[in-house]
This record gives sequence, C-alpha cells and structure tokens, in this order.
Amino acid sequence: MQDRTKKQPLWVEYGEIYLDWLLGGRSGAHPSDPIRAKIAVEKLVERLKGSIVVHDPALNADFEADKAELAKIHGEAHIHGAIDDYVDSLWSGSRESMAKAGLAMFRGTVRAVRALLGGKARVAFNPQGAKHHAMRDNSSGFCLFNDMAWAALEFEAAGLKPLYLDWDIHAGDGVYELLRNTGIPTLSIHNGSLFPGNPNMQDRGRLSERHTVHQLDEHAYNWNVLDDDGDEGFKWAIDEAAKVIEGYAPNVILLAAGADGHEGQNGLGIRNQYTYAGFEYAADMVAELAEKHNAIVLIGGSGGYQPLDHTPEIWARVVERIYSRLSD
Ligand SMILES: [Zn+2]
Repeated sequence: MQDRTKKQPLWVEYGEIYLDWLLGGRSGAHPSDPIRAKIAVEKLVERLKGSIVVHDPALNADFEADKAELAKIHGEAHIHGAIDDYVDSLWSGSRESMAKAGLAMFRGTVRAVRALLGGKARVAFNPQGAKHHAMRDNSSGFCLFNDMAWAALEFEAAGLKPLYLDWDIHAGDGVYELLRNTGIPTLSIHNGSLFPGNPNMQDRGRLSERHTVHQLDEHAYNWNVLDDDGDEGFKWAIDEAAKVIEGYAPNVILLAAGADGHEGQNGLGIRNQYTYAGFEYAADMVAELAEKHNAIVLIGGSGGYQPLDHTPEIWARVVERIYSRLSD
C-alpha cells in the first residue's frame, strides 16, 4: 500500500462532456440532468480549496483502450452498438454525443481507479459514476456502462479486497449480477417497491415491512426500506451494513452514493424521506470504517433527481465528510 502519511488531494473526475448526457433538455429539465455533477464539483472546489484536483475524462481519450476495459464486463454487441454506432435503447436513433458522454463517465471511473491504485489519492469521486443498473449485455435505468463492477474487478486483480456499498434508493442490480459469482461483497440499501424489482434483492411479498434479502453464498446483502421510510429506516440499514463491512474488513470501499432517497419533490415520484442528517450519518459510517481498515474509497454519484439543489448538495457533503476524515 502507498504511503499515506502525506495529505493527498481529493481526486475528482469531471468534464463538460458529462453535460452532453441529455435525456431531456438542459438546466434541470430532466430529473437526472448532469448539471447536478457540475454543481456538486463547484461546491467541492469551493469548500476544499487547494485540496481537490479535477481531472477531465475527455482529455486524451483512447477509444480502443476504452473498449478493452469495457470488454471485461460487457458483451461485444452492447459495446459495439454504443461506441461504434452510437445506438442504445436509452435514446432513440444514433446520438454520438450521448454515446461519448456515457463512455466518458465510464472512463472517469477507470482513471479514478488508476489514480487510487497508483497512490495518487486515497479518495476519488466521479459524480456521473456508479451506473449501477447497467447489465453485461444491455443498458438499464439510465445506466450505459457498469463502471463500479469494472472497478471492483480491477481492485481485486491488483490484490486488494474491495467491497461495494450502494445506498441509491434503487437496488444496485447490475453490480450484483456482474459480481455475484466473484466473491466480492455487494451491499445494497434500497426501497423494496421500486425499480428494478430483482427478486434476489427485493421481496415484493414483504413490502409492508423493512426486510433483508441476503444471498450469503454470493456475498450479496440487501436491505429493503419502505415507501416513506425516513432516516430511521436508512440508519437501520446503515447500522446493519456497518456490521457486515466490519466482518469483511475491506481495504477498498466502492460507494454508490445515490441521493434519490432524499425527501421532497424529485421529478420521478419517488417516495422516500431521507434527510441531510441521514446521508451525513451514512457518510460518517463509511469514513469511520475506511479509516479503521486503512481503506481507499471510490465514490460514484449514481442517482439523484433533484439536480439543481439537493442532489449536488448531498453529494458534496458526503464526499467532503469522507475525504476530510481520511485526509487528517
Ligand atoms: Zn436511483
């Protein structure tokens, strides 16, 4: 492991190319507008001053190298359709800018992982990362390529012990499916009633109660909170997840820090009532365990449907709390 005695800046992957990911109009017109990434990074630059470096994933792009990395987790037809033909089921027709933005999001995570493995940072953040619904052979749920599954395999290949934690309000089904036979632990905290409805993660027969759907032989853990469950439900799951993480003692934590469980109007009708205090509690758990186990941390934004205000503020607070604790 690298020398961690000297303070390293927060490593962020962000570039204007992310703004080309347009499922609707600009400026908050679609609930998943990547303007949230731009605002989150601006907040972090302001708050962390000289302790943050922002890298543009669009620079020095090498599409052949990207394809080689994608091939580790995705099928040939899915890669070819998006990268060569600019076609995918997430959009209609051939849209080069969408395909290249989606690829840049993936590349951002690739570069963040290289930085972490190279000892250039201990904490890295890709606000348009953690595209957790993407499957081997198809995109899903606004997610084109599964950067976190790729990252977990890359860390494992480097001899480290990665663990994936996902508190996006939707189950991290793509990551689970891609890692379920690898032995890498995947932990997901989500609303059991929402998309995607993976029966290995959500029990639709038990929606009246908080419940777990663990697959212990696959090292997969799932905590299902309720519609309108607030911080109490979130903290229940976070406390249980902390025990599982403690048992694995990972030296890499991959975090899908979805902000879509936040209370209030969100454009997609998602009914959950987490507050800032809940997200801060969750961030502190990750920071504490990462500190205890001398772990490096990769954070991806995943979902968040209040793009102009709550989503970027939650991401900024979560990232700042984890970074600050680990850079003391
Ligand atoms: Zn989500």
